[in-house]
Amino acid sequence: MRQERIGWANGVLIDAGKTHVLLDPTSGRTLHEDSSVFITHAHSDHTHGFATVAKKHSTKETLRIYEALRDREVKNYRTLKIGEKVQAGDAEITALNAGHMLGSCQFEIATPQFTAIYTGDINCVDTLTTKAAEQRTCDYLIMEATYGHPSYVFPRRSTMYADIVSWVMTQIRDGKIPTFQVYSSGKPQEVVRLFNVYTKIPVVCSPTIARANSVHDENGVKLEYSDSSTPEGRRALKAGGCVYITTSKADHVPRNASRALTTGWALRQAFRKCASFPLSSHADHDQLMEFVGKVRPKRVYVFTGYSDMLSSEIERKLGIRAGPLPVIAQTKLLDFNEALT
Ligand SMILES: [Zn+2]
Repeated sequence: MRQERIGWANGVLIDAGKTHVLLDPTSGRTLHEDSSVFITHAHSDHTHGFATVAKKHSTKETLRIYEALRDREVKNYRTLKIGEKVQAGDAEITALNAGHMLGSCQFEIATPQFTAIYTGDINCVDTLTTKAAEQRTCDYLIMEATYGHPSYVFPRRSTMYADIVSWVMTQIRDGKIPTFQVYSSGKPQEVVRLFNVYTKIPVVCSPTIARANSVHDENGVKLEYSDSSTPEGRRALKAGGCVYITTSKADHVPRNASRALTTGWALRQAFRKCASFPLSSHADHDQLMEFVGKVRPKRVYVFTGYSDMLSSEIERKLGIRAGPLPVIAQTKLLDFNEALT
């Protein structure tokens, strides 16, 4: 039997016994049609696996958002519901809610030797569009540390929602169009819901965001908005008194816009010529520490962000072995063939 390997090899690799899976791959170079890849959510830095020849696994919502934003049909895939299991090699792999955006999941990989959980991006509090990440015990926890620095502790969500609404009211009163520049999926839908739930202010979204909105609508997250490319959307922008939500790449921003960003980095960073709110779809430092405390793994592998700092804090405060996710030398195609026979 080969040695167990958990690490980074163009994605998070779990390799033990007859199990050989790649999670959120960033390249398809080592993959063939029978390889199994697992995609946690629809943000573009996690979806490279959809463009590979491998057998793809994700939730239906993640697949639909990807297809809607890329206008591309994915082949050779299997969708998983939250809580559903699939066999890969001699492991059972289960999708667990990650709380990061619609359809986002963690993956639990139960091999005959150990149980590992790969979180992908997680958020451990409820939002207007998602429920907090599930916490399940495991032997090995592979966890993100985007906001793993102790200085990143976000305000309560209700406080941030109130701050955003208050800023928007001021801008509208001053004759501006408050304009949020965000990713195309996840955060914008939370911001649309925020205005739908707490105000009567009309919301206009750019066409890209409208495509992701329609997948939310299909999956039970009801959103009231108009698309800026439609006559209704154009009329609303011309009349003013509305909120505009667009992507960071969008070149069309209304002339009388006052811009805003929603990102966790806003807690410690000021942005030029725009307002900023620390509304994040990631767990903050305290949530990450609490998550590890509840999961009680034998070992934590940390990746992205403040991985060194968070690892040493987990060891010191929780007494759990932790370290950055190791990089594994480039896996050869041969390894996958061996695993599948
Ligand atoms: Zn993400």
